[in-house]
Amino acid sequence: MQFYVGWSHSDALFSDYYSDCPTLVSAVSDNQGTLKRFKNKPNKLIIDCGSVFYVKQQKRPTLKHVFEIQRSLIDECPNTSSIRLVHFDEPMFNKTSLSDQYYAMERTLYNAYEYLKVVSEEKLPVNVSTMGVIQGFDRASVHYSANELKKMGYRFFGIGSLLAKNQKQQIEFIKYAIEAVGAENLHVFGVTGITQMAEMVRMRVASFDSTRPTMAAAYYQVFYSNPFRTYVISASRAKPQSDRLGEPLYCECPVCKENPQDMFIPSPRPYMRLRSIHNYYHLVKTIEKMKVGTEREEVV
Ligand SMILES: [Zn+2]
Repeated sequence: MQFYVGWSHSDALFSDYYSDCPTLVSAVSDNQGTLKRFKNKPNKLIIDCGSVFYVKQQKRPTLKHVFEIQRSLIDECPNTSSIRLVHFDEPMFNKTSLSDQYYAMERTLYNAYEYLKVVSEEKLPVNVSTMGVIQGFDRASVHYSANELKKMGYRFFGIGSLLAKNQKQQIEFIKYAIEAVGAENLHVFGVTGITQMAEMVRMRVASFDSTRPTMAAAYYQVFYSNPFRTYVISASRAKPQSDRLGEPLYCECPVCKENPQDMFIPSPRPYMRLRSIHNYYHLVKTIEKMKVGTEREEVV
């Protein structure tokens, strides 16, 4: 199980702190040219098409334009980085009627087909492969979507559109996708809950991504592990949904080894970034512990 940290141009440079740091980045203009800033490039990278970003825009970019951004991000990485490219998907979380959901699924399949055509015309380096996005609104449609992607030639898959679903439904949909393609070939997009993470570890899903270390840091939260817990830093005026914490606890992350007080300063942004580096450390530790199967009861 690999955890990919969702990364955007204004976030902390995680892989400069952690050498083994799989990263997910979206092919949107703001991210173009930004991987150059990493001293240590991510060893594993997923480059998606930024569908969630583009769906909010008035006008969609062309497939060629998005692919060019993906291509430039590939060129910024060494050929030792293992890179997976994701085609444009039509997000389903904002579709309510069955016909709109069906249309989104068909549209995503069409995009997947078109994308493979564009990719096959390019000479991509051997360290780059593709990922098909499975969508669906029930078990049958998830299976249908997965099988259509397989017929096109996809060998690795991601499942998206889980954002609007509750915890139980998310786990159900992941199970449907596993039935269709096997857990070892499945990535799960955009996971936030610790319970879902524990369940995915148990189901042996190949990988998932989350922006949680950064999101929590932006909301003035700090994580600790063993067991996993979240605090809101006392100096922030944020309405606490968790207990407040005024002083750092013992931690061996790269930030706390230098100066743990720094991440207790609410803003500006550099302090948020330090919190996210610290949060990443504890989320990874928690996932590692889930893997050895000892912490499931404690963290849920
Ligand atoms: Zn720390």
